[in-house]
Amino acid sequence: MPAFKEKLKKILGSRFKANHPLAALTTFGIGGPADYYGEIHSREELQAVCGEAKKTDIAVTALGFGSNVLISDQGVRGMVIRLDGNFKDFSINREGAVVAGAAARLPKLVTVLAEKGYQGMEALVGVPGTVGGGIFMNAGTREGEIKDHLLSAAVFSLKDGRFCDWAAKDIGFGYRHSSFQKSQDIIVAATFKFPLAENKKDVSNRIKSLMERRKITQPVDTKNVGSIFQNPPGDYAARLIEAAGLKGTRMGGAVVSDRHANFIVNLEQAKASDVRALIEIVRRTVREKFGVDLNTEVRMLGEFR
Ligand SMILES: Cc1cc2nc3c(=O)[nH]c(=O)nc-3n(C[C@H](O)[C@H](O)[C@H](O)COP(=O)(O)OP(=O)(O)OC[C@H]3O[C@@H](n4cnc5c(N)ncnc54)[C@H](O)[C@@H]3O)c2cc1C
Repeated sequence: MPAFKEKLKKILGSRFKANHPLAALTTFGIGGPADYYGEIHSREELQAVCGEAKKTDIAVTALGFGSNVLISDQGVRGMVIRLDGNFKDFSINREGAVVAGAAARLPKLVTVLAEKGYQGMEALVGVPGTVGGGIFMNAGTREGEIKDHLLSAAVFSLKDGRFCDWAAKDIGFGYRHSSFQKSQDIIVAATFKFPLAENKKDVSNRIKSLMERRKITQPVDTKNVGSIFQNPPGDYAARLIEAAGLKGTRMGGAVVSDRHANFIVNLEQAKASDVRALIEIVRRTVREKFGVDLNTEVRMLGEFR
């Protein structure tokens, strides 16, 4: 596609790459290259890039912090984009309204909001993703979900090439679900509103204890993507996987964590095919032992057999 490459170079300069490795852009550290890759700094660039891709019939896939994706060993066909530059910014006004770019990091938001005495975002402490990835996934914990304080999201529609705003109530959120998982929309920004805490110290204490809990229960400092499976109704995937005796099960360089059974860790240069095979072993064993079908929470990008 020489013409496409030339046009993209004109729009993005050195931020456009062909055959670009993606593994290092994910917390799993796994996966092959994107045919084309670009870091996007403005809405104008996003519109121009997606317009060229559409003309040439090239699929566009958004990547956030890469903390909930398993990228195929063969990589991703078409163009992978990452929002960067001003998309990482956010502002907080005195009433607790937050306007954040989709590339703003959740850990930073959690910290800054807590410092200013706002409560609610600390439910997401320890979730390493971005605002865009968080809304796409409706990231959450037992303490709350990203949708809880969301007012609206601004998105770019790949279908009609336009920007529009979605009120949170119209987005169709569920457990680790948003309607953006079906539509072809790129989330570019979000507006939240957080209440002031009665006591600022309570928020920081809560953050501390939630973080400590994670350190005890999760394999921190390893390459992973958090929970691999969604919890089935009324139960926990981790409980079922552990009860099935699957902790420590290994496939190539990937292993079911001894610390948290719903985590798979890339121990030693694991391939996506290793992780995929392990996912199938876990699913089959849990189905045979308990009659429960586990659905994946991790998003697979690229082709998997
Ligand atoms: C140690 C660890 C702990 C975790 N704990 C939790 C937890 O407690 N709760 C929880 O919910 N998750 C958890 N996660 C998973 C992950 O952090 C969340 O799902 C997060 O919301 C993903 O955000 P991201 O920016 O990394 O998205 P990515 O992983 O980059 O992408 C995830 C999906 O979102 C899409 N996407 C990303 N950005 C956009 C955008 N701007 N527009 C449209 N689509 C987009 C991608 O195409 C992909 O399908 C954890 C992960 C790790 C590594």
